[in-house]
Amino acid sequence: AAVIVAIDGPSGTGKSSTSKAVAAQLGLSYLDTGAQYRAITWWMVNNGIDIADPAAIAAAADKPDIVSGTDPAAPTITVDGTDVAAPIRTQEVTSKVSAVSAVPEVRTRITELQRSIARGTELGIVVEGRDIGTTVLPDADLKIFLTASPEARAARRSGELKGADVNATREALIKRDAADSGRKTSPLAKAGDAVEVDTTELSLQQVIECVVTLVEE
Ligand code: C5P
Repeated sequence: AAVIVAIDGPSGTGKSSTSKAVAAQLGLSYLDTGAQYRAITWWMVNNGIDIADPAAIAAAADKPDIVSGTDPAAPTITVDGTDVAAPIRTQEVTSKVSAVSAVPEVRTRITELQRSIARGTELGIVVEGRDIGTTVLPDADLKIFLTASPEARAARRSGELKGADVNATREALIKRDAADSGRKTSPLAKAGDAVEVDTTELSLQQVIECVVTLVEE
């Protein structure tokens, strides 16, 4: 049967880089669930939905058509046919995504999408997110929970954002993790049967090797 790997954890732990590389090395598909939450947030912002109004977000949750391409060498994301890979990474979307993804109707919608993609895969798939091992795919063959110190996470994120202020990045990151961990519906959490990997002192290559070894066991 197709192998399903769930990789969860907060931002800045190397989750995306690790998940893509592991999928590529093992010939598996790859799904970035954060990109889906960013895409629905982008749509809400673009359609004038008040992010402070959960009822308005809930009422619109079914409207955008979100499609994810699952090739780890070239993952794609579109909303109603428009490529949104770049605009979903703006600071505006990043600062609003936690509020949108806390709305239960949004989670139900995106979770269904994720399950149908995982179910439809013939190759097997690496799915990365915050609640994959706990809620989306509790029967995954392997669950990984990546962690790292707040300092290491902020440093990696500011490196990616080229020249962004480390302290501001660290504050924004801590705020987003607190919101993601504190929401009522499927918060950021480690599944009881997940393997925790602390990446603070590890290189990306070491984390990739560690996860590949766990999949192959
Ligand atoms: O992984 P990334 O930083 O792109 O995720 C963006 C946001 O999407 C997270 O901060 C969180 O609010 C939301 N998210 C979620 N559940 C997931 C993946 C992401 O709520 N499985």
